[in-house]
Amino acid sequence: MNDKLTVQEAASVEETLERMLTRLSGIVPEFEIAAKAELAFKVNQLKRECNAVILGHNYMEPALYHSIPDHVGDSLGLSRISAETNADVIVFCGVSFMAETAKVLNPDKTVLCPVEKAGCSLADGITADDVLQLKEDYPNAPVITYVNTSAEVKAVSDYCCTSGNAKGVVKHLLDAGHEHILFLPDEFLARNTADELGIAYVHGADGERPSPGEPTVIGWRAHCEVHELFTVEDVQSVRTQFPDAVILAHPECSPEVIALADVSGSTAAMVNYVRDVDASHYLLLTECSMGDNLAAEFPERDILRLCSLQCQYMNLITLEDTLHSLQKLQFKIELPAEIIARARVPIDRMLAIA
Ligand code: SF4
Repeated sequence: MNDKLTVQEAASVEETLERMLTRLSGIVPEFEIAAKAELAFKVNQLKRECNAVILGHNYMEPALYHSIPDHVGDSLGLSRISAETNADVIVFCGVSFMAETAKVLNPDKTVLCPVEKAGCSLADGITADDVLQLKEDYPNAPVITYVNTSAEVKAVSDYCCTSGNAKGVVKHLLDAGHEHILFLPDEFLARNTADELGIAYVHGADGERPSPGEPTVIGWRAHCEVHELFTVEDVQSVRTQFPDAVILAHPECSPEVIALADVSGSTAAMVNYVRDVDASHYLLLTECSMGDNLAAEFPERDILRLCSLQCQYMNLITLEDTLHSLQKLQFKIELPAEIIARARVPIDRMLAIA
């Protein structure tokens, strides 16, 4: 992070370029860094003039990730930071539901997403009406929704969670005496969390019923369109080619893939693992920019590269868009006050548990 701050604090385009080259020349072709240094310098200048803070998700492309965010991380870490910032403007370099969460936590601040609609297959996979119907179908089950949902969906939920604290939030409700828990909308995260806790899973999307007296997670049908693409065959192939590689899988991957991985964890957990644990190779089964970003951050680590599994939504966010966002104060996240008030409740409960 210190190196990133020095890129941000560079006093000229030339200094920005020099510092970006130091960080990225093993990862990104130099001509591309040269093309982006001027943009990064302008963004950092304007950010100071606007008293803005830039939050960058771990899936941002390397030149952006390593040059302009004040803070980088996963949804949970960035939510926490957005709840505490003193900046007047929050620019969220991530997809729309993340910027919405920042707005819910900072209703009086200007929150910007650099593109007008950066979607997510999980957030688009469930509506507030779906949640209300599930509440009718399972009236005694509290509702946990993954942070990858719209503010409207959060507003009809009891708790939020991220991939980093899903197990803790479910356990919190089990310890409070709930035996059946609606966990929406990611089927794989719900199944993997139930497996980790050693409790049952039923598919609420198909109307399956939990057994009385048996702790059970009730799930929905949505998937992350990136993580669902990893297969058992992919993992077996890596094991053959790189027998010493540590395979880290995001819990949005299928339970079959998680069962074969060495480690399952959020992107923040992956960062910590690569930083703290020596291995000859690492393979991250997650969006491919993450591997590039960690390879730049930890040049002494040998991170196997994936080039094909990109999130089409995360990749909409560019340095150019971020500059335009600050220049025109676009695209402002606007939510009805009533939705903000109701969506805040499950987010605050999550932050209190986490
Ligand atoms: S990587 Fe998956 S969960 Fe994340 S924004 Fe893209 S589609 Fe949504």
